[in-house]
Amino acid sequence: MEIQTNPTITLLCPSCWGTLEQNHCPNCGESFSQTLDILDLRWPRPPSLTTAEETLVTNLVTQFETKTYRELVTLRFQDLDAPPEFLTLYHDYQANLQTRGRSMMDMFQTRLSEHYKIPDRQIALDIGCGVGTSTAVLANQFAQVIGIDPSLPDLILAKKYCQEQHIENTLFVQAFAQQIPLQDNLVSYVVALNVIEHLFDVENAFAEFHRVLKADGCFCGDSRNRYDLFFPEPHAQLHWVGLFPRRFQPWYVRTFKERPYVSAHLLSWLELRRFAKHTFEQTTITYPLVSAYGQPVQTDKWIHLLEKTPIFRHLALIIFPSHLLLAKVGNPLSNTH
Ligand SMILES: [Zn+2]
Repeated sequence: MEIQTNPTITLLCPSCWGTLEQNHCPNCGESFSQTLDILDLRWPRPPSLTTAEETLVTNLVTQFETKTYRELVTLRFQDLDAPPEFLTLYHDYQANLQTRGRSMMDMFQTRLSEHYKIPDRQIALDIGCGVGTSTAVLANQFAQVIGIDPSLPDLILAKKYCQEQHIENTLFVQAFAQQIPLQDNLVSYVVALNVIEHLFDVENAFAEFHRVLKADGCFCGDSRNRYDLFFPEPHAQLHWVGLFPRRFQPWYVRTFKERPYVSAHLLSWLELRRFAKHTFEQTTITYPLVSAYGQPVQTDKWIHLLEKTPIFRHLALIIFPSHLLLAKVGNPLSNTH
């Protein structure tokens, strides 16, 4: 498929949905802050940064041109107030991120293509793009990629990463998934990598993905399973968190790990299925190919075998560590492609 050049992207005011001119909305008069040309379009506007966060952003901005991406990553996480085991884990994760980003994006598209076809290669949207490694991969496949994330420090790193890789067709915007400052029917492909379990308003976020997607656009995202029986919950590093009723989960994590449990909200297969079917005309929930997560390639063969086994196919999804949601906008019968 041929990559087309420079589709125009107009950012919208998240308050009134008027068209922004630079960082200002002529329609409602709101102005939005801008850091290294990354606009803060989070809405409703969250409380302002703490002093520590402000210092971090200032450090990243002032050293943006002189430091490398890797040095900025160190700067970003050196003051992180987290247990040492978590930091080690995070640094390992960061170190493998480039390879991981590529293998995950490849896996997403391999799985998606078994069911649905991305209509064209014009604009992709990377939801919760973080430090931009998946955005950079998509930038090689689409004419333009928009990365949105609520975290400014992550977006600054993403921008640096793309700059170092000489990638110029990316646009980073600080925004929430449930209020995407883009026009309707704009995007051909929406990606959510390691994101669905962090959406606290899944219904509205999914509705936004559907709104910005073109009439035959596609969505792909992975989702950690609440009822995974095999691996520790990745954010708490503790087994079986999801087996507890939601209101007891923070108590369980605090008791055994002495840390708060606030930023993750894992969905079960049924919950994910309900949200997906409520939003998209065509949906498939399937197994991710676990080689993309660094598991042995042989394991993928077992997954393919499992998929072909009628009863177990669904039963195993209930307890499998992770799900892959594939979706397409539009009724299959109205599809002329
Ligand atoms: Zn406005």
